[in-house]
Amino acid sequence: MSLDAEVLIIGAGPAGLTAALALARLSHTVKILDNNEYRNKMFPNMTMLVGHDGQSPANFRKECRDNLLSRHPNVSIEETTVIRVSQTEKGQFAAEDALGKKWVGKKLVLATGCEDIFPAIEGYESFWGKGIYHCYFYKGYTTEKAKSSGILAVDVMQDVPKSMHAARYATQISNQVTIYTNGDTELAKSFGSAFGTSDLFRTDDRKIARFVKVDADASSPHTDTTVGIEFEDGTTVAESFIGHYPLSKNKGPFAEQLGLPLLPSGDIATNQPWLQTDIRGVFCCGDNSQPRKIIPEAQNSGSLVGAAVSNQIIADNFEQQGLV
Ligand SMILES: Cc1cc2nc3c(=O)[nH]c(=O)nc-3n(C[C@H](O)[C@H](O)[C@H](O)COP(=O)(O)OP(=O)(O)OC[C@H]3O[C@@H](n4cnc5c(N)ncnc54)[C@H](O)[C@@H]3O)c2cc1C
Repeated sequence: MSLDAEVLIIGAGPAGLTAALALARLSHTVKILDNNEYRNKMFPNMTMLVGHDGQSPANFRKECRDNLLSRHPNVSIEETTVIRVSQTEKGQFAAEDALGKKWVGKKLVLATGCEDIFPAIEGYESFWGKGIYHCYFYKGYTTEKAKSSGILAVDVMQDVPKSMHAARYATQISNQVTIYTNGDTELAKSFGSAFGTSDLFRTDDRKIARFVKVDADASSPHTDTTVGIEFEDGTTVAESFIGHYPLSKNKGPFAEQLGLPLLPSGDIATNQPWLQTDIRGVFCCGDNSQPRKIIPEAQNSGSLVGAAVSNQIIADNFEQQGLV
């Protein structure tokens, strides 16, 4: 099989595009394969990226793509869904899409992002990113503090230190924080000592039936994000927003196909410092493998992987032992 590019990258989010940019800066050829299903695809604005705070993630991705492709003819992007990856007899890597089209590269970068796995509570998904937030650096802030907010202590957050971590952040943007344990009475009791002497925090251990839209104070900046929590006892409370970090898993069947180990978090395991997997020549960057799932981290790990892959290719070309 002839080589389509030195490096195949699956995923054109901030991780894959940054890896491609680093590789392009040292004249490597790169083929990016991507199907446009970015994790934050449906959200109108992003934060925490200096110089782009509050801007549209779609515009940001377009600017990154246009800039990369217009300056680096060695990089190209194919819009497609890859369904299979494998290592060839020569030790190269092949990627195949649903139509049977194949690409071969010397090295493979998985920049596929992750899928969020929501708790089985009715209505959760409809508030995801619009009232239920996984990160208060991303959303929740307005110029006026909210009257009260909630923390949903289920799944990853069914844990005192993790829920308290989020609850403490919440006190910067709301005057009262209630931790909802969804029927876990023992967990609710164990928050007592973590609260210390502060009266800003409290718990509610009632079982949640569903999240519902409620009428909120129209003059509040939190009207659109207010979440109604309807309990199995038939009562409902309203919170200006709720903090919850869902479970997640790396996207696509590639870790399984290549036999790559996963971490308990669902991320693909990589080795420090170069983020190479247990297979030489396969690297991961961004949300599929990094614990901090934010755009700056996707870019950071993408640039590291780009540099590592370049180093390995050059060392291979000279039949030398490189650092990677
Ligand atoms: C609600 C929400 C809001 C967020 N807001 C912010 C924010 O304001 N600021 C911030 O810093 N971070 C934010 N994030 C996190 C941010 O979206 C991610 O950290 C970032 O997108 C990760 O980049 P990535 O390149 O790893 O993955 P992604 O951006 O998800 O890109 C991965 C790409 O790979 C593609 N892909 C996967 N499998 C295949 C396949 N088989 N074939 C072809 N292509 C494939 C995907 O479809 C996708 O196009 C937010 C996340 C969520 C859920």
